[in-house]
Amino acid sequence: MYIKKGYNPISALNHPPSWKGKHHSEDTKRKMSNIKHPSGKNHPWYGRHHTKEQKEKISGKNNYFYGIHMRGKDSPNYIDGRSPLADRIRKNEKYKEWRLMVLGKDKFTCQECRKRGVWLEVHHINPLMQIIKENNIDTLEKALICVDLWIITNGTTLCLECHYKYKRKKKQCLKTDTL
Ligand SMILES: [Zn+2]
Repeated sequence: MYIKKGYNPISALNHPPSWKGKHHSEDTKRKMSNIKHPSGKNHPWYGRHHTKEQKEKISGKNNYFYGIHMRGKDSPNYIDGRSPLADRIRKNEKYKEWRLMVLGKDKFTCQECRKRGVWLEVHHINPLMQIIKENNIDTLEKALICVDLWIITNGTTLCLECHYKYKRKKKQCLKTDTL
């Protein structure tokens, strides 16, 4: 099993585990922070300013994000208080058990590319949020007794790569749907 607490598979893609314990030299660090937080002449906006019209365009009511607050209830992704519930379900022991059962059912093999011995994730065929909505689950207690949520066949084992590809595909579908 390759499950480590605090392991973030997405950031792991960019920073393979071998990075752990290795440090950038002081010089590289400075260069990197200059890229992240450029100042003075290094700043791409050095010597450039927004014109008055541009300023009007991006401020106040004209700004695309005007009135949109990205956190909690105001976030466009907020689904009537159930996102934190999904997080709580994912952290529950029963969820970890379910995950293991799915992995066992699929014999710890990616169901897409048949790879073994790599980082494996469990993908919900019927999305977790959808099950929560359909069954009107609003508490963790209700979630724990909801049969639909814990059906082993609703989970499939995917390696990190295949899961990532799948999520990206889904994102693209959602984008074209809204266009
Ligand atoms: Zn795979």
